[in-house]
Amino acid sequence: MTQALDIAVLPGDGIGREVMPACLAILAAAEALTGGPALRCTNWPAGALHYRDHGEALPAATLAACGKADAILFGAMGWPDIRYPDGTEPIPQLDLRMAFDLYAGVRPIRWFPGLPRVLADPRAEQVDFVLVREQTEGLFYARGRGRMVDDAEAYDTMQITRKGTARVSEFAFRIAERRKERRGKATVTCVDKSNVFASMAFFRKVFDDVARDHPSVAADYAYVDAMALNMVKKPWMLDVLVTENMFGDILSDLGAGLIGGMGMAPSADIGDAHGLFQPAHGTAPDIAGQGKANPSAMILSAAMMLDWLAVRHSEPSLERRARLLERALESALAAGTVPMEIGGGAGLDEMTRATLEALPAAAKDLP
Ligand code: ATP
Repeated sequence: MTQALDIAVLPGDGIGREVMPACLAILAAAEALTGGPALRCTNWPAGALHYRDHGEALPAATLAACGKADAILFGAMGWPDIRYPDGTEPIPQLDLRMAFDLYAGVRPIRWFPGLPRVLADPRAEQVDFVLVREQTEGLFYARGRGRMVDDAEAYDTMQITRKGTARVSEFAFRIAERRKERRGKATVTCVDKSNVFASMAFFRKVFDDVARDHPSVAADYAYVDAMALNMVKKPWMLDVLVTENMFGDILSDLGAGLIGGMGMAPSADIGDAHGLFQPAHGTAPDIAGQGKANPSAMILSAAMMLDWLAVRHSEPSLERRARLLERALESALAAGTVPMEIGGGAGLDEMTRATLEALPAAAKDLP
């Protein structure tokens, strides 16, 4: 049995520094209840405030620790007005994606009973889909490479490669195959703009090549503009979506909006050798330091980390711990603890306390 796993913890800036301690407390309490491998969590500095105070956003020691760790647990980074001399923002999460080739951005969007509904249609309670965002190329390839011509024109180039598209499509089909075991059917929708751009037509062509290897999963297609419409009109119809980096960036915020806000949306950045787990939200400077942050997305991201570690280390107890985190949060929400973010009265401390208190009962109900 695996005795312990090393987790590199990067709280970052703003509400990242608030939701991370809440999450670590819940992880520790869940570990005490389930047993199994211990998580050795070590905090490492990085972020915009670290850049302001020490001149670097992602110190070499932090990067090295992330490379050695069994998983990376990440809060949020970035702060208004803290910029590099060229005007761009320190965004260490993008640097980590590139450093560790974290090509698949996995963003589950699902409804949690107890929360006020965003959409009027009752079927919105069935929303349960996964957006898989390519994260190492696409339009973000242009980051740091933008070209200005005099003060009159600006160019950013999108990169779509066969390798990049094939591996993220493969990843999406694998997720769909696992979901099929639970749901009985599965569809992966390729979200693109292949009617306009050669790069996007190529993305779809490579997606098709991968789809042929997965006959048990239906392949579907949507232009990104139509998908934006359908995500609002009938999101309960969606299963697994795969898309280019920039489209994924935008659609994942839309997805979070469907379930109440960014504070409900977890994410995982997965590569072949490393995994980084972080809430989909940013540092929320407007509410930072006020005790209002919703820790749900951070807790759900930690559950995704446990699931990923369970598979990598063949440790079913970690999967049970992941379910425990989810169920405790679900039962806190269902019992009426509604985050301030979604119009309720529960701030960070109350959300954390309610989830901690729900853990023992949830542990008894685990299969
Ligand atoms: P970035 O620009 O890096 O995405 P951000 O925090 O400014 O960072 P979002 O993450 O998109 O932007 O969040 C938008 C708003 O949603 C925040 O300003 C905040 O009001 C709210 N929000 C986001 N996450 C949470 C959370 N966990 N709890 C409560 N409110 C949140």
